[in-house]
Amino acid sequence: MLNLSIPEHIQPLRARVLSFVEQEVYPLENELLENKVASRRSELLRGLMDKAKAEGLWALGHPEELGGGGLPFMDYVFINEVVGRSEVATVALGTHSLQDSIMLHKYASDEWRDKYLQPLVDGEVFPSFGMTEPDVASSDPTQLQTRAVLEGDEWVINGHKWFTSGAANAAYTTVMVRTEDDDTPGHAAFSMIVVPTDTPGYNIIRDVKVMGQADGHYEVIYDNVRVPKDNLLGPRGQGFKIAQQRLGPGRIFHCMRWLGQAQRAFDLMCDRANNRVVFGKPLGEHQQIQKFVFDSAAEIQASRLLTLHAAQKIDQGDEARVEIGLIKVYGASMLHNVIDRAIQVHGALGVTEDTPLERMYRHARYARIYDGADEVHIQNTGGRILRHYARGEGFDFGLR
Ligand SMILES: Cc1cc2nc3c(=O)[nH]c(=O)nc-3n(C[C@H](O)[C@H](O)[C@H](O)COP(=O)(O)OP(=O)(O)OC[C@H]3O[C@@H](n4cnc5c(N)ncnc54)[C@H](O)[C@@H]3O)c2cc1C
Repeated sequence: MLNLSIPEHIQPLRARVLSFVEQEVYPLENELLENKVASRRSELLRGLMDKAKAEGLWALGHPEELGGGGLPFMDYVFINEVVGRSEVATVALGTHSLQDSIMLHKYASDEWRDKYLQPLVDGEVFPSFGMTEPDVASSDPTQLQTRAVLEGDEWVINGHKWFTSGAANAAYTTVMVRTEDDDTPGHAAFSMIVVPTDTPGYNIIRDVKVMGQADGHYEVIYDNVRVPKDNLLGPRGQGFKIAQQRLGPGRIFHCMRWLGQAQRAFDLMCDRANNRVVFGKPLGEHQQIQKFVFDSAAEIQASRLLTLHAAQKIDQGDEARVEIGLIKVYGASMLHNVIDRAIQVHGALGVTEDTPLERMYRHARYARIYDGADEVHIQNTGGRILRHYARGEGFDFGLR
């Protein structure tokens, strides 16, 4: 049975997280994101992280055995909705490392687990993930060219990646590489290897500017990078399988955080609509603006229900592949549309840095590309539904 209200027991914690984001994170956002001096940004972030820890709000969704808050999955889903109000709150509250921590915990050798796991959960080091390459359409990752060859007790890695987000501040990159020969079917030919970013031959060549900003998405050349054999995560050839496990629940959290962003944009839009007067009456009394409010409310609500439905299926042990595909595409489009309308209602102010909207808009645009471009999810989800019909099962929404 689908239960969509926020459970009573989680409401006080959700309110505390929301208050932390609004009172502590919002006032520092601009400086955290725009200050040119990296040491100042880092000092501010550390201050927020320490405050979150002191208030018992740190890493709420990490399993207890990893030193986290151990919240059950569904409770944490609702927390993500308020964490998402600010793009920097995931790091300030230590939620950003959840998927990487679980991946290390499950698949890393004892040595790498000991070295990185605790500092990762504590926010002392940052992870990064290197899959995408500039020279091949990385939507089809079986085409990836970066290779690792085993020489004695070491992997030797050569290749070219880009959009390794956060690489310059990360302690390591988990890199997706071909480890098997060309005759091995693509889906069994790739593995993930942990590469400390200070390894010789790991060369960051630029911070790729995106929509006019250097936002921390790095281009990296792997030039005879040598790491110990044990840096392999999980078994050889299982890279895509492990990556998939990382992505499923991760997409639910993404979509909940997008709902937090959409709520923030919606609040700003409605306030502006009520308070800005044009042609003798508030903007909000003009029908076209009411339509913005209506369309945004409908899209947010639809996206929220879809996401909670997918979350509950995952919580019940279902992989929810169709539902995840639906929310990734619908959620990213909802986010983009709601922020776009909020900008429009603000007029010129909406595209300045005097509101968070222009920054949120850039991030919303990326959401249609990262974690699988829209078209890939549409192809996979549409195909999956059609296969139900091909098997004679149909696809009864009432039974999903
Ligand atoms: C802000 C941001 C952060 C990112 N962070 C990371 C990161 O940390 N690590 C990392 O490895 N990558 C990261 N990425 C990269 C992202 O995962 C890739 O951009 C994405 O997987 C698409 O790969 P591509 O860019 O090579 O596009 P391509 O594969 O070249 O695809 C280009 C376009 O082709 C279309 N297309 C693709 N497949 C189909 C299809 N089957 N049918 C119809 N059309 C199709 C889509 O419109 C797609 O956008 C990030 C990207 C962004 C924007």
